[in-house]
Amino acid sequence: MSRYWSEIVRTLTPYVPGEQPKIDGLVKLNTNECPYGPSEKVLAAIAGQNSEALRLYPDPQASALKAAIARRHGLAESQVFVGNGSDEVLAHIFMGLLRHAAPLLYPDISYSFYPVYAKLYGIATRAIPLAEDFSLRVDDYLQASREQGGNGGIIFANPNAPTGMPLPLAEIRRLLQGNPDSVVVVDEAYVDFGAESAVGLIAEFPQLLVVHTLSKSRALAGLRVGYAMGQADLIEALTRVKDSFNSYPLDRLAIAGAVAAIEDEAWFEATCRKVIATRERMVAGLQTRGFQVLPSAANFVFAQRPGSDGAALAAGLRERKVLVRHFRAPERIAPFLRISVGTEAQTDALLAALDAILA
Ligand code: PMP
Repeated sequence: MSRYWSEIVRTLTPYVPGEQPKIDGLVKLNTNECPYGPSEKVLAAIAGQNSEALRLYPDPQASALKAAIARRHGLAESQVFVGNGSDEVLAHIFMGLLRHAAPLLYPDISYSFYPVYAKLYGIATRAIPLAEDFSLRVDDYLQASREQGGNGGIIFANPNAPTGMPLPLAEIRRLLQGNPDSVVVVDEAYVDFGAESAVGLIAEFPQLLVVHTLSKSRALAGLRVGYAMGQADLIEALTRVKDSFNSYPLDRLAIAGAVAAIEDEAWFEATCRKVIATRERMVAGLQTRGFQVLPSAANFVFAQRPGSDGAALAAGLRERKVLVRHFRAPERIAPFLRISVGTEAQTDALLAALDAILA
């Protein structure tokens, strides 16, 4: 650690990414990627970028992409912000919209980057514990706000990560109605696998931002494209942050590929249906083998096997070339495994490996 580092940097720990080992025959169910490749139309659009396109700067507004996203969600282009993966979009939201005197509220447990961004930007936070059954209780947020005289914003993932559990739209509406004075961010990274999207509430609630990614349901984690949707006033704030930070967040390949991905509804519908069907088969297979599985609306499940140690199960699977995610902390989730939905064959391999471990 260098004496040149700032106070905030001193408190940051290096990100430990999900493992991406290059091992033949590995069944990789640890990072919630899509098990299928993206639409062929995406590959064609990227291949279509010629030397002239690469010589020139990309469109700083990424207008073609914003227009495609706006069309798909029934919004105006001014209601869409795009970034280099939803992680970057979230970073801009923290910087531009969630930095206030009152603490930001977020669930404990949730996506691990929320507290990291808050720390990075010097934002005060208050973590609101999930209920005993891992559900998010809207009343806890409203009560915390009353207690502390407001909040600097609220952020949560729907479905939540790593639990996969969805929050019903009626509950999100109730949260928005009870919290008119600060921004509410709904991170819908996994929404396409069975949860209800809050996008339809944008017209009614000026404080709502909804964040999507192409990394999961569009199979483009490698392209790094995410976006936020909200009323033009919030989007304008994010654009000002972006313009002062990196005026060209998306390169031409990403813009071209993302437009093709957004426009290929048929590929998208079929892929989501396939992942959901495999998830249901995986859940049944896990339950048969003594696992308790939280209700998942995501492309992964969160499961524990009473009497089995989570770390030992993960290690046993790893020995059999099946990678799943095990979180040692917090203690409450240590018995659980987070398992991404793979292909049918990968699901068979997972279940067979579990049979071998549990035999
Ligand atoms: N939000 C949640 C809840 C996630 O799990 C992830 C993926 N790790 C992201 C956002 C970020 O995804 P990306 O940057 O690939 O869009």
